[in-house]
Amino acid sequence: MADRRLLMIPGPIELEPDVLARLGEKTRSHLDPTFIDAFGRALGRVREVFLAGKDAQPFVIAGSGTLAMDMAVANVIEPGDAAVVVDTGWFSERMADILARWGADVTRVTAPVGDAPSLEAVEAAIKKARPKVVTITHVDTSTGVRAPVEPLARIAREHGALVIVDGVCSIGGEELRQDAWGVDLALTGSQKALGVPPGLAVLVASARAMQAFRARKSRVASMYLDFGQWLPVMEAYEARKPYYFATPAVNLVAALDTSLAKIAAEGVEARFARHAKMAGAFRAAWKAMELRLLPVRDELAANTLSAVWYPEGVDASLVGKIGAEGAVVAGGLHPEAKTKYFRVGHMGAIAPNDVVAVVGAVERALAAAGVSRSGLSAASAALR
Ligand SMILES: *Cc1c(COP(=O)(O)O)cnc(C)c1O
Repeated sequence: MADRRLLMIPGPIELEPDVLARLGEKTRSHLDPTFIDAFGRALGRVREVFLAGKDAQPFVIAGSGTLAMDMAVANVIEPGDAAVVVDTGWFSERMADILARWGADVTRVTAPVGDAPSLEAVEAAIKKARPKVVTITHVDTSTGVRAPVEPLARIAREHGALVIVDGVCSIGGEELRQDAWGVDLALTGSQKALGVPPGLAVLVASARAMQAFRARKSRVASMYLDFGQWLPVMEAYEARKPYYFATPAVNLVAALDTSLAKIAAEGVEARFARHAKMAGAFRAAWKAMELRLLPVRDELAANTLSAVWYPEGVDASLVGKIGAEGAVVAGGLHPEAKTKYFRVGHMGAIAPNDVVAVVGAVERALAAAGVSRSGLSAASAALR
């Protein structure tokens, strides 16, 4: 029997059959006209999904979300530059590590697990550090905390800083308006809300970010990450011409083209609304089951995943039990609380059927762990 379990971790996610079918098509030359067309079309649509400016530059290269983080930092940071990290969890700390490795002088503005630093605390740190770059993790997948990107980016801009947003667990699901919100570098990986298998780093640089790149005094120390190497590639394919620097992941780019076409057909705004609605149904179910979320306030709870504390008397073996009931979910990730919570991804093609299946699996797993709770009718009511 085929594996009917749902893959409900925060990436990789359940994929649409036509995306997978496209991935399995014949591998073409990167100079093949059909590939040139697919890549060019995908780049244009990336700009649309990010709600980026017409003058913003998309980059799609082989790698994971972490590579996109590395690429964003490598191209705008020079040794000795100051950077402020809005720290909402484990992935924010990864960004701080990347910044330090590229020679930045890093200030982290922290908060307890499940919270985000206040706007005032971030502004005070910016005033003190006078950073070239401020980084924000839109949704920190380790805590399920969604940071308020719009006001944070506004503050950073008011103080002349470039804004980098790690949107790996948000773009394509959470509302992010790169241009309107003044985000200079927004990035994601293909396997999260974009609904493609893992393997592509996707990044969009604003015109301001490209100016900052061009104004560098030193060249980017990594060849593979250098915007200067990739810019002619991206410009050429968007103009429906080939250009070689390093072989593109042709099958993955084709799959991305299919997924982005589906996102465009649904509409970005409708996609935001669907994610919000499905997340609301999950939250209604967690509440009915008396399960608490890591995010300490409702407005901090992400729409792309739920991070849920185990109830009393239940331990991390619950994750395996939920899997046995048909939904593959993830354990904790934040080093301070790793063994005390689980995470459910709800992004991409997420639909009412998935919500009901996952809540049912959690109910049955809890019952097997000796805790009798019901969330199904609350989920159904929220979906009505
Ligand atoms: C998944 C994730 C990453 C890392 O992406 P990889 O593709 O695993 O390298 C970075 N940031 C956030 C917020 C993520 O959710």
